[in-house]
Amino acid sequence: MKTPLIDPFHRAINYLRVSVTDRCDFRCVYCMSENMTFLPKKELLTLEELDRMCSAFVGLGVEKLRITGGEPLVRKGIMTFFDAMTRHLDSGALKELTLTTNGSQMERFADDLYAAGVRRVNISLDTLDDQKFADITRWGRLPQVIKGIDAAQKAGLRVKINTVALKGFNEDELFTLLEWCASRDMDLTFIEVMPMGDIGNEDRLDQYWKLSDLRATLRDRHTLTDLPERTGGPARYVRIEETGQKIGFITPLTHNFCESCNRVRLTCTGELYMCLGQEDMADLRAPLRNNPGSDAPLEAAIRDAIAHKPKGHDFDYSRQGVDGRVSRHMSHTGG
Ligand code: SAM
Ligand code: SF4
Repeated sequence: MKTPLIDPFHRAINYLRVSVTDRCDFRCVYCMSENMTFLPKKELLTLEELDRMCSAFVGLGVEKLRITGGEPLVRKGIMTFFDAMTRHLDSGALKELTLTTNGSQMERFADDLYAAGVRRVNISLDTLDDQKFADITRWGRLPQVIKGIDAAQKAGLRVKINTVALKGFNEDELFTLLEWCASRDMDLTFIEVMPMGDIGNEDRLDQYWKLSDLRATLRDRHTLTDLPERTGGPARYVRIEETGQKIGFITPLTHNFCESCNRVRLTCTGELYMCLGQEDMADLRAPLRNNPGSDAPLEAAIRDAIAHKPKGHDFDYSRQGVDGRVSRHMSHTGG
C-alpha cells in the first residue's frame, strides 16, 4: 500500500474529477460562447492515457472518480474508458465511479454505464420549459434530455439534477422544479453561477442569483432542516420536511468550503488543478507520455502537485466587478 495523498493542510485527497473532453453538443450561455474553439485532438489524453492516469490516482488512494467535461458522453469510445475503470471497482480500491452529464446521450449509454458499475449520475437541467431550454443551451432540446433521464432511471441509475440558479431565468420555476424532482424521486442541487471563461456577451453579474436568496424563497413555503452531510466539496444540504426531499446548494462564492476540500481536477489535456478557483496547475501529461514504461515519474509529479494544493480560492463578486475571475472555461477544468 502506497502512502496516501495528503496536502499541506492535512486534507486527504481521495476524490478526482476528470474532464475527458472539452467538446460538447450544447453551448450553454453561462459556460461557452457560441463559437468555441476546441483543442486539437493530439492535446487530449487518449483513452489509454486516461486509464493510466486515473489508475495512478486510484493507486495513490483516490476512491471516488467523477467523469465530466465538456460533455463526457460525446467523447468517442468513452465506454472503453468506463469499462476499464470497472476493474478498480471490482478490486474495491475505487468506491464510486460517477459522471456529470447534460443527459443528451444518456438514452444510448444508460445500460452500459450501469453494467460498468456506475450507480449514480448527475444530470444538468436548468428549466422544464422547451423554449427556455433551447435558449439557455443554444443547441440542446429538452425532450431528448427527458428521454435520457427516463433511460437512466430505467437502467437503475440514481439521478440527481443539477440546476444553475439564474436570475430572471429560472427564478419562477423554483417550485416547479422542486415538485418535478420529488415526483420522480430525484435529488436536486442548485449551483451558483461562477465567473469562468470568456462566454461572449452574457453579463454574469446580471445572471447571478444568490443561493441565500433562493433558500429564503424556499423557506416561504417549506420547512428546511440543515443536514450534517458533507462530501468534502462545496455542497451543503437541507431536507424539505414536507416532501422528505434532499436539496443541495453549491455556493463557492458566498460560502467558504475550502477547509474540508478533498478533491483535485484533471483536465482533458492532463493538467491537474489543485483548486477550482486558482490558476495554479501541474502538467501530468509530460511525465505520463515521456515514460510509457513506468508510472513512477507520474506518481512523483502527482505527489509534488498535491504538496502545492492551496488553502482556498479567491472568487469574489462583492467587490467592484467580478474579481478572482478564472480565465479558463468550466468545460476545460470539468465542472
Ligand atoms: N456537460 C456536462 C453537464 O453540463 O453536466 C458536464 C460538464 S458541465 C461544465 C458541469 C456543470 O457545470 C453543469 O451542471 C453546468 O451547469 C455547470 N456549469 C457550467 N458553467 C458554469 C458556471 N459558469 N457557473 C456555474 N456552473 C456552471
Ligand atoms: Fe456543455 Fe455542460 Fe457546458 Fe452546457 S454546461 S455547454 S452541457 S459542458
